[in-house]
Amino acid sequence: MEETCELCKRSPLKTTEHHLIPREFGGVEGPTAWLCGACHRQIHALFTNAELAAFYHTLERLADHPDMIKYLCWVKKQDPEKRITTRKSNRKKR
Ligand SMILES: [Zn+2]
Ligand SMILES: [Zn+2]
Repeated sequence: MEETCELCKRSPLKTTEHHLIPREFGGVEGPTAWLCGACHRQIHALFTNAELAAFYHTLERLADHPDMIKYLCWVKKQDPEKRITTRKSNRKKR
């Protein structure tokens, strides 16, 4: 299905459903956003589910994080047809 990503606003592209509050934190019935694969992967590379549940559970807050601002600025110039490989975030290394 051809859609518009709610975060980077690119279209048309395939979107996937993101639970703004992760399911393991009770977000099963909670609000969701439709995001392209690149944005979706970026969010989960940058934030842990605990961080998403505690603070980053709105698109406004996600888009306001300094790393997301940089990412969005870059991704908006990318062709929606092209598959984007997400760079691994240092924060998630254990
Ligand atoms: Zn996107
Ligand atoms: Zn998600």
